[in-house]
This record gives sequence, structure tokens and C-alpha cells, in this order.
Amino acid sequence: MKQYTHAWLAFMAIKRLQYAQIPESLKADAASLVKWFHDYRDFVIKGSWYPDKVFKDMKTSHIIKYRPDPSSTDDEFKKLPSALMLYKLGKKSPLYGKPFAIDEGNLADRCESLAHGIIDSFKMLRMEERGNPISPSNNHIAMRFFILSHYIADCHMPLHCDCRAFSSGEDIHGFIEAQWDAQVRKSYQLDTANERFFYDPDGYPLKKKITPLMELVEDDVVHREYSHPWGTGNDNTWDYMSAISQYSYLMAYRMIPSQYDETNLTKQLYQTTEEWNHFEEYSRYIFSDAIDSIARVWLHVWVRYRKWAAGKE
Ligand SMILES: [Zn+2]
Repeated sequence: MKQYTHAWLAFMAIKRLQYAQIPESLKADAASLVKWFHDYRDFVIKGSWYPDKVFKDMKTSHIIKYRPDPSSTDDEFKKLPSALMLYKLGKKSPLYGKPFAIDEGNLADRCESLAHGIIDSFKMLRMEERGNPISPSNNHIAMRFFILSHYIADCHMPLHCDCRAFSSGEDIHGFIEAQWDAQVRKSYQLDTANERFFYDPDGYPLKKKITPLMELVEDDVVHREYSHPWGTGNDNTWDYMSAISQYSYLMAYRMIPSQYDETNLTKQLYQTTEEWNHFEEYSRYIFSDAIDSIARVWLHVWVRYRKWAAGKE
């Protein structure tokens, strides 16, 4: 995904934590996290873009590449919170429950390690005297949150979880991401000179003429049910992100059926397929699910730190 798409998703995750119906037992946690983020919003674009611009670990940590493989013994698909659209659609996929192989990528490991690292940094910040050079700063930790959001968002981009090489050939991967970038640019006021959004009075990207797709996503951000657990059988960020990657793989085959790969699919042909008629609908699900996942992972991280700080862990 492109720079402003990543940043927008991170902003929407904060917005979700502020305005969605958060379960009573977590309301105070969500509110304190939103308040904490408020001082660091200018890091959103920089942080959420760092993995592509600076780390450049695209070939390993931004992906988990699946393919159908009848000879594989792996055929188990994890569970996810029921409101996730990827999960709902994925379970109807003809590839659901069918054997698969993973060719490359360690995206879930990357997310787990970043989540852990943020909690560790908060603990260090709290243990050390203010100004101690070994102490991480809140600014640094905020950057880490936005870096984490990048990898979570990438996992929701179906082609990051599909071993067909759609960045080659006519670059269908880039084509899809360009469509999404155009939606963000049309819908929000960008302060391109300073590489950030202009903000509305609540501190979120300022809308201009918002597109129908983005309006629907903005609506999901606030109105879609938020459930905090990872989904039955999942205990941590790694389990959750692995599950997301499985359904993202199934979504890839829904968006681009199995008879196509980078050698026979052109942009022109793609736009004549039946699947292309659903492109906006799928884009909504991908965005809204990604925002939900970023909010969920962040809140888990924050709650764990707060429990520790309160002496409960
Ligand atoms: Zn990336």
C-alpha cells in the first residue's frame, strides 16, 4: 500500500478506538490510548511509511505467500472474530479447508516482535529516570506503533499473502494500490509539503469531497462492532496475524481467480472480469478489516502494558 493509504489506516484505527462501541471493561484503556496518541499524530505518516522507505524488508516481513498445494498436509484454517469480512467471505471460498503451502515471508513474526518491543519500551520508559539516555521516548514508541500498523495493514492486502507474482508482468499489485491511493487523495486534504494530512477539529484527516467508498469505511470505523478477543484458539498477535494472512490469501483468489497469474492478466483484462465489478466492495472490506485489526493489536499492546504498570502482570 502507498504512503497516504498506510497513514490514513493508522488514523482511522485511532478514530475507531475513540468512537466505536468499545466493551465497557476496556473503555478506560481505549480512551487513555487515544489521549496518548493525540500528542504524536504528526508521526503517523513517517512511522507508517518507515518499513517501505527505510527498513525495506519487503521481500521477507511485509508478506506471507500462500499457494494451494494438494500435496501439502497443512489444511487447517484458524478462526477470527466474527465481524471480520475477510473471515466471513473466506469461509465460503472453494479453497477454504483445502491444503496450502507457504512459500516465503514472516509477516506474523514481525508483528509479534514489534508488539512485544513496544510493551518492553514502555516498561523501560517507566523504570528509568526521566532523561536517562537508555530510556526510550514516547515519540519513539509512537513511531513503533505506526510502524506496526504498516505490517498489519500489509497483511490485509491480499496480494501480500498470495504467491502469484502480481508485482511482475503488468504490476496488478501496483495498479490496485494506485486505485486505493487515489481514493485517499480524493477524499482528504493533504498537506503534501509537510507530508501529512490537514486535520479536522478532532485531529483526524480533514475530509474534502469524500468518495462513496471512503464514506462507507468511515462509517464502519464508528459503527462496526468491536470485539477485543483474537478469535477462538488465538492467544497473541502472532496467532491473530497468521489467521489474517490465511483469509487474506483466500481473498486474493476471490479478487483474482486461480486461472490468472502475472503472465496472463493485464490491467485491461482485469477490468473486464466479473470480480472487478466487486472491487469497491472488496476494498471496503479490506480497509475496514485492516483498521479493525490495527485497533485490536494496538489495544492489546496497551492493555498489557497498563496491566503491568498496575502491578497485575
Ligand atoms: Zn509494506
